[in-house]
Amino acid sequence: LRFLCSALTTDSGQVNSLVVSIQDMTELTRLEQIRKDFVANVSHELKTPITSITGFSEALLQAKNDQEYQRFTQIIHRQAAGMQRIVDDLLLLSSLEQTNAHPTMAWTRIEQILEETVQSCKYRFEEKQSTLSLVVDNPSEYEVLCNGMLLTQALTNLVINALTYSAERSVVVLGCHVDDETATFTVKDEGIGIPKEDQERIFERFYRVDAARSRSQGGTGLGLSIVKHITAVHHGSVAVQSEVGKGSLFILKLPRSGSILQELEERSDSL
Ligand code: ADP
Repeated sequence: LRFLCSALTTDSGQVNSLVVSIQDMTELTRLEQIRKDFVANVSHELKTPITSITGFSEALLQAKNDQEYQRFTQIIHRQAAGMQRIVDDLLLLSSLEQTNAHPTMAWTRIEQILEETVQSCKYRFEEKQSTLSLVVDNPSEYEVLCNGMLLTQALTNLVINALTYSAERSVVVLGCHVDDETATFTVKDEGIGIPKEDQERIFERFYRVDAARSRSQGGTGLGLSIVKHITAVHHGSVAVQSEVGKGSLFILKLPRSGSILQELEERSDSL
């Protein structure tokens, strides 16, 4: 704790009152550390592709044949696309983090959300010869109050992760169960799993269990942080259960009743 003390004096110089303010330095130090880590992480994440683009564009100028030209151009394109993903994710995160961010919400058919999620992941599953199967418990005309674009993005992030951290020809199950109070979405894989000690931290920005693997798969380290923020603006929750070598289950819950929904409807504006 930091105590700041200042004296208020009368015209004749006599002290007539003291103002004491107490600051919680542990919290301030922690926030300052988070800020520093964030700047260091962003710089690090962007530095790697920038170094590669600089190096390969120099090499491109001296390319000896068409083959080299093609190879260097492809690397530059891949690295630039990676940077684009990081910047897009950071912009989305920062708009979600604004304290006055109230994205537009509307009652949306859950079937539509699931369909859009499946569509946006389809080609990645084909590439890896894996299967995405859909298990919906209730009639799909059920609705949920959400920003459709954001909820689809959150589910897509979970499904793409499930695919990324599984072997080829694996099965990922996207499930949904709805009752009057809650819409529960689940994403289950039989992939590498997440060690117990990492399970809480994976929702932090840039936290990765295996940074090299994640990067080589095109990950930005921001996907789960985005999922957490999207869930938070919907007043929902997200949790993980996982066992190394067996697989993971992510559970995302959104409320379907209660006073919070009225608040969400009233406050929603454009993001
Ligand atoms: P990334 O872009 O690195 O995948 P995320 O924020 O989406 O970033 O995930 C953070 C980390 O959590 C990943 O790097 C990975 O180590 C771990 N992870 C996320 N989803 C899974 C999963 N389904 N199976 C195993 N590990 C996962």
